[in-house]
Amino acid sequence: MKDLSPQEVLDTALRNAEALFGGVTLKYAVVIGVFVGTTLALAWIAWRLHYVKRSAPGPMNFLRFLFPRSVYLHRSTWVDIQLIVINQLFSPLTLSLTALGTGVIASATSEGLGRILPGHDPSFSWGLWSLLLFTLALALVSDLATYVVHRLYHTIPALWEIHKVHHSAEVMSPLTIFRIHPLYDLAARALKALLMGPLQGLVFFAWAGPVDAMTAFGANLVFAVFHMFGAGLRHSHVWLSYGPWLERVFISPAQHQIHHSVARKHWDKNFGQIFALWDWVFGSLYVPKGYEELKFGITGDPSVNFSGVAGGLVRPVVNGWLVATGRRRGARPTRAWRRRQERENAPPQSLPAEE
Ligand SMILES: [Zn+2]
Ligand SMILES: [Zn+2]
Repeated sequence: MKDLSPQEVLDTALRNAEALFGGVTLKYAVVIGVFVGTTLALAWIAWRLHYVKRSAPGPMNFLRFLFPRSVYLHRSTWVDIQLIVINQLFSPLTLSLTALGTGVIASATSEGLGRILPGHDPSFSWGLWSLLLFTLALALVSDLATYVVHRLYHTIPALWEIHKVHHSAEVMSPLTIFRIHPLYDLAARALKALLMGPLQGLVFFAWAGPVDAMTAFGANLVFAVFHMFGAGLRHSHVWLSYGPWLERVFISPAQHQIHHSVARKHWDKNFGQIFALWDWVFGSLYVPKGYEELKFGITGDPSVNFSGVAGGLVRPVVNGWLVATGRRRGARPTRAWRRRQERENAPPQSLPAEE
């Protein structure tokens, strides 16, 4: 057999990898490398700050800290994996429907504006700052849509039955981000299309041409930066706080973990994804004062079992329907249930009440 040069070996390996993974290119490898690298660096900082004992900071200990058996072998992680598979079946439909929706709304907006203002001169040259502002505006509007959908799913009892799938995670790993009901994904993307479509149409009309947001690694610049600042740790056991000042601007991984906490004082806080702005404006921002020990999941609802197609896909819809039609009482968001919880969890009279 002919000897291959190192270059030929590398080329063959890359070709095989591309054939195997269907279009995985070096570009994506670099993107993934950057995101994984920054996530690991931030996890290491968090580990040194909050977890490691001074005597045991070795690399193996760090690895054991990153991948604890108590998380990855937990039955909750197994449910995450099942929901990932279920969502894979629905995502092509959801993605194509919402992309189509955004396009239709954008062109309708642009055409409508053209009829109202027929003499508009669309000459505008995009510079660095105008592009940067546009990119930021897109990210802010997209984040507002995420915020609104998320908050509705917490506030309306029937919708909470659907969102409970995500909150039922008792341990969190980066897989938990995909632990959502397909209907939640569809609603979030549909509202995003409703808000982003007019914005894109307006930009298209005002400046005559599709304007691309600034991108880094092929993603909207803001989202790329978001992923470089530990977004992968939002669903994990690693407490990464940005500090009280920055957490009023951006939602840190620790703040999203607080959103998943079973503690009453953490309920319905930090709905945002990237920016803390919407939580701040609508009064749901929670900025931790320091490290907090958290327990994840839903308390007080014994009927939670979201494994398999029946549990993860069908049961939330049936429960949502029963709640919507008044045949079942919604669990967490109803005031009566909260009052009962507060009564049951109230400290004895002789002790000072918790804040
Ligand atoms: Zn939530
Ligand atoms: Zn979450």
